[in-house]
Amino acid sequence: MTPSAPSPVWHPYAHLKTQRPAPKVVGGEGPYFTLESGETLLDATCSWWCMIHGYRHPRLVRAIQQQADRLCHVMLGGLTHEPADRLARELVRITPAGLDHVFFSDSGSVGMEVAMKMAVQYHRLRGRPEKHRMLSLMKAYHGDTAGCMAVCDPEEGMHSLFAGYLPRHHFAPAPAAPFHADDEAVAQDLAALRAVLERHHGEIAALLMEPLLQAAGGLNMTSPRYLQGARELCDEFDVLLVFDEVATGFGRTGRMFAADHADVTPDIMVLSKGLTGGYLGHAATLATGRVHDAFIGDSPGHAFMHGPTFMGNPLACAVALESLAVFEEEAYLERIAGLNRVLEQELVRDAALAAHPAVADVRALGATAVIETRDATDLAGVADWAREQGVWLRPIGRWLYTMPAYVTTEAELRRVTAVMKGWFLR
Ligand SMILES: *Cc1c(COP(=O)(O)O)cnc(C)c1O
Repeated sequence: MTPSAPSPVWHPYAHLKTQRPAPKVVGGEGPYFTLESGETLLDATCSWWCMIHGYRHPRLVRAIQQQADRLCHVMLGGLTHEPADRLARELVRITPAGLDHVFFSDSGSVGMEVAMKMAVQYHRLRGRPEKHRMLSLMKAYHGDTAGCMAVCDPEEGMHSLFAGYLPRHHFAPAPAAPFHADDEAVAQDLAALRAVLERHHGEIAALLMEPLLQAAGGLNMTSPRYLQGARELCDEFDVLLVFDEVATGFGRTGRMFAADHADVTPDIMVLSKGLTGGYLGHAATLATGRVHDAFIGDSPGHAFMHGPTFMGNPLACAVALESLAVFEEEAYLERIAGLNRVLEQELVRDAALAAHPAVADVRALGATAVIETRDATDLAGVADWAREQGVWLRPIGRWLYTMPAYVTTEAELRRVTAVMKGWFLR
């Protein structure tokens, strides 16, 4: 094939008729990546929120090289290795107390599939096979595989085309009370959740949620009190609580995990995106002793029948360990607090931006900020416009957001916020 023929690469979420040739990335350094054309772009999204250390971090690159020299891969079926064992111990150490068991897989979607299967089998093993449906929230996004699509927002989500193909689950309204809401506002959200549980708890295995930040479904930022109330409701109705921290994990909301804001331990927690600093695809589904111990028994049905080929891949585990070491040694939570101050000052407290007719809301949480517009057409052309100024933005629907790498300096983040608000205040 000649180099000028169209590439056979099929791009995600792309309209084939209107898509333009994708710019080719040839390298990256810190929060920047470089294109074949020579352009250098400041990545305001850190590649779907996973490149938390930025590109070509010397310690992460070295960790992969050193591990590659020893052992690139071996199956976890009936075998183990040091990087998997060490990473599991580290994840148990840093996650909320009680999450003591770690099941590895290779992506966030699969990590969520594992969580849902675990919840269904848990109830079956306890003699409650009728508890086999999920309770999810409107505005949720949990991944693109079939099981995950079925628990994404069924209306606004991107998967309504597949409605006939997917199993049916229950949905509660998305929580509306914001991060700093008073108890009364949160009580309304919890009452809506309780109503669904009262009606359907007999068939519900687990309540799934992206704690504090419903990310891909519109960056909905909610209250820690909602997590505490959800924990109490799950205990009352014998429903497992599953936190999908694929996006929120590793500092994105300002604490190591969103659960930490509420001091809540879910029964199952899923980690992916930031887990390896984005350097390799991997995921972890953590479970408490209560969940894990239900699988101890004599029948063939007690084995957990799941095992992705690449689970616990040594390269992924080694780079995840190094990612975590850098995170802690370089006090990333302090950096994130600094980034949050910039986002609050430059976006949330900008009166002119808030007053703009196209702007419905501006909010920030940790190293995340979003300008919510009234209509997706308000953002038509924003990505090209940002690129002309050296910034890579990729809005979702009517949400113009940033989730920068934590190595982004405050001055660099001001470049991002200037472009974000500049789109409206030109
Ligand atoms: C990205 C994401 C997923 C899916 O992860 P993949 O690695 O893309 O499969 C699941 N849940 C949340 C909250 C996510 O942001």
